[in-house]
This record gives sequence, structure tokens and C-alpha cells, in this order.
Amino acid sequence: MKITVAGAGHGGLAAGALLSKNGHDVTVYEKNDRDSLGHDWEDRFTFSLLSDITGEEIPDDSWRYRGDCAFVSPSYRTRVVINYTDENRQKIMQRKTVMKMLLDFAEKCGVRFRFNTEVLSAVTENGAVTGIRTADGEILSDLVIDAAGVFSPVRTSLPDSFNIEKTPSRGDVFYARRAYYNKIGDTVPDIPFEVFLCHNREQGLSWCCINRDSVDILIGRIDPPGDDLINKHLEKFRKDHPCTGETVLHGGYDGVIPVRRPLSLMVADGYAAVGDSAFMTTPMNGMGIDLSLNAGKLLAETIGASGKADIDTLWKYNRDFHLLYGGITSKNEGLKNALLEMPGEGVDFLFDSAVIQSSDLAGAGSKTSVSSLLGKFVRGMKAPKYFFALLGGLMKGAKMKKAFESAPVKYDRDAVNAWQEAVKSTVLPVTRS
Ligand SMILES: Cc1cc2nc3c(=O)[nH]c(=O)nc-3n(C[C@H](O)[C@H](O)[C@H](O)COP(=O)(O)OP(=O)(O)OC[C@H]3O[C@@H](n4cnc5c(N)ncnc54)[C@H](O)[C@@H]3O)c2cc1C
Repeated sequence: MKITVAGAGHGGLAAGALLSKNGHDVTVYEKNDRDSLGHDWEDRFTFSLLSDITGEEIPDDSWRYRGDCAFVSPSYRTRVVINYTDENRQKIMQRKTVMKMLLDFAEKCGVRFRFNTEVLSAVTENGAVTGIRTADGEILSDLVIDAAGVFSPVRTSLPDSFNIEKTPSRGDVFYARRAYYNKIGDTVPDIPFEVFLCHNREQGLSWCCINRDSVDILIGRIDPPGDDLINKHLEKFRKDHPCTGETVLHGGYDGVIPVRRPLSLMVADGYAAVGDSAFMTTPMNGMGIDLSLNAGKLLAETIGASGKADIDTLWKYNRDFHLLYGGITSKNEGLKNALLEMPGEGVDFLFDSAVIQSSDLAGAGSKTSVSSLLGKFVRGMKAPKYFFALLGGLMKGAKMKKAFESAPVKYDRDAVNAWQEAVKSTVLPVTRS
């Protein structure tokens, strides 16, 4: 089968490599050059997934442990500290190395690359995706794997009749600027990593992590924050942490992170989306590498078993993804949106009254459930408005998980449309600005 991968996203590289190894003819079209791929910073994900896919060891000099973490309330009054143990301490790895390992593996498996080639749109015919359009013309193939990220031109150019969601709503993505600044002095605090929820009462979060030789600052909001706001916060971080220098050592640019449920429908005849192009991240923390790699593997296994790329075959990938990962990760969209809907004083109350505790924050909300919250009923009743808003978000999340996991077993257009509507009805929209 001739397969085109649009964008060298993580899941697309994993799927493309495994499919090429399985005898398919795979070419990746990527708008940037090879050396510039992968963010210039460190990220957290499950390292064993990458080494299992590539068959390579993680290089010793590419990763380190992150220190203990404190979540700080909007008023700065309450700090919830997470002391990690040796077993669950967070490991972070240079993203450039992640990318290099995936690219090397894909090349080794026989994948061809066309770098510096921008994909402009999908090519479609009779309800099927038949290829991609680039400045050099149309490239036709049996399957297009869409790994071109959150604003993929392939997904966004699909005709409405495909019923694949094109544009994220407000609150679905997070606009972040991240930079590592030079560090003045060599002191590292006991709790080096501070995360500020609803930072400065704005909708989003920021973090400041004091490393041995740098200070890693991220400022993210659901509306693009702009230079003035970022500079204002940087000034405050420098005042609070005078060890933060002015020189950018790594990063220093903007990134967009999906923080929402995945696409309900992510396939069509000749088309499958993976990674950020299908919004495959954990809504509370925007982690997407694990989900992208798992989805890439799942897609390759689905196609490998059948050698086909029609919607009936690809639907199995779609459904299996939701059963294995989509349902469980979508669950915390309700919690995230309930917090985004709440004014800063509400989030302060949840922190100050210990309605939100370290167990809720350590797992990015995965351990927070309707029953765990009901256990805090008495404390929550001091401000019922906020307690019930949080409870409402968790209930929506639980319904969303159930809806995702009830996808029809076989592809049937009417049944899938009805199921998509059922998923949509469980969304808690972000209306506060
Ligand atoms: C600041 C920040 C911090 C993050 N931290 C973490 C973390 O700690 N852990 C974690 O798991 N995730 C993290 N993420 C999220 C993570 O980056 C993504 O979820 C993950 O990379 C999966 O995305 P992807 O590979 O599908 O898409 P992308 O990484 O966006 O890759 C898409 C690729 O397609 C290419 N492309 C785009 N448009 C075109 C086009 N028109 N033509 C050709 N090529 C195109 C791009 O150049 C890129 O190479 C973070 C993201 C950001 C921005």
C-alpha cells in the first residue's frame, strides 16, 4: 500500500516506521528540515514506550529526574506539595532526542522523507481522502496518516460531509511560551518546581522550575497571552526568584497544546489522524507523547493485520483508541473546564479548604472522581457554589468517558453520527472570559 504521512509528528513517525517495516511504501512530508524537528526543551513521558517502538536504549545523557513540585493557588496563599518517591519521580527527556530516535528508526525501517515540503491540504474524491496537496502538486496514495499537529491543514481542509471536527473551541487549546533562562548562583530550592494554577487569576497556568544551571519558565493561557502579559509575569518571577537571568538558553518561543478530549471521529476512507491532529492529549496537563506513540502503534497494527485503508478497517483503530485511551483521558476534560469556568476566588477556595489536595494534583486529576469529591462534602459546603461546579465538571467527565467507550462496534454512518452527538452532549463548554 502507498502511504503518505503528513507532518513528522510522533505518532505518524511511529506508525509510518512500523508500516514500512511491514512492507508498505511510506513517505513523510514535513515542512521543516530534519535538524529543526523536536522542541528545544525537556518533556515528561513514558520512556519505555519509545524504546519499545524503536528497539533502542534511551541515551543516558538525554534525561534527568525532575525535583519535587508545589501547586500554588491563585492568591499564593496555599501551596500543595507533591513529594515524589523513587518509584514515581518524574523523568524528563530532551525532545530533540525523542525526535532523533523516531526519525532514525523510521529511516532504518525504509521510510522516505521529503523535508522542507509544506502540506497545503487534503485531496479528496467521492467521500475518500486520496492524497495531499503540496506546492509541488498532488501526491496520491492509498492512505494519508495525518500527523501535522493541532492545526493540521489536512484535517481542516476536509469537506464538512466527513463529519470530522476541524476547529478547536476556545478552551480546547493552550497557548504557551516556554524558555530556559540562565541561572545566577547555584542554589536549588528543596521544592524546585512550582506550578501556578489560574495564575494571576487568568485562565491558564504557569510554571517556574529552578534547575541546577537554568530556570525553566512556562506561561500558558487559553487565549494567546501576548508579549506584554508574558513580560509582566517574567518580571514578577524574576522578583520572586532573583536567580532568574535574562539570557534565553533554550526554547523562548510559543507552542500550542490541545487540552481537550480527542476527536470522536478521526478516520475516513483513506485517512487516519494521530497525535495532536486528533487532539490526543491529557486535558489537565497537555501530555501527548505517550498517546501519540500508542496511537501510532495501534494504527500500524490495525492496518498491518488487514492491509486495507477503508473506513471499515480504520474504524477499528478509531474505536480501539477510545476504548484503550480516549475514554479515560477525556474524563478529566470536565474537571479542567470546571476550573477554567471558575473565577480565581473559587479556585482559591478549593485549595484553601483542601477540597483539592496533592492526590488530585499528582495524577493530573486522574484520581479525582465524583466519589472522592463527595468525601470532602463537609469542607466543600463552606462554598457550595464552587464545590458543586467542580462536582458538575467531574460528573460531565464521567459521562464523557462512558460515551467515548460506547462507540459502535462496526462502522455505520448513522450510528457513528448519533454516537458523535452523544459524545458532544457531555462537553462542559468554557464560556467565561
Ligand atoms: C510547551 C509544550 C510543552 C509540552 N510538554 C509535554 C510533555 O511534557 N509531555 C508530553 O507528553 N507532551 C507535551 N507537550 C505536547 C506534545 O508536544 C504533543 O502532544 C506531542 O508532540 C504530539 O504531537 P504531534 O507529534 O502529533 O504533533 P506536533 O509535535 O505538532 O508535530 C507535527 C509535525 O507536523 C509538522 N507540520 C505541521 N504543519 C505542517 C504542514 N502544513 N506541512 C508539513 N508538515 C507540517 C510540524 O512541523 C511537526 O513536525 C507539550 C507541548 C508544548 C507546546
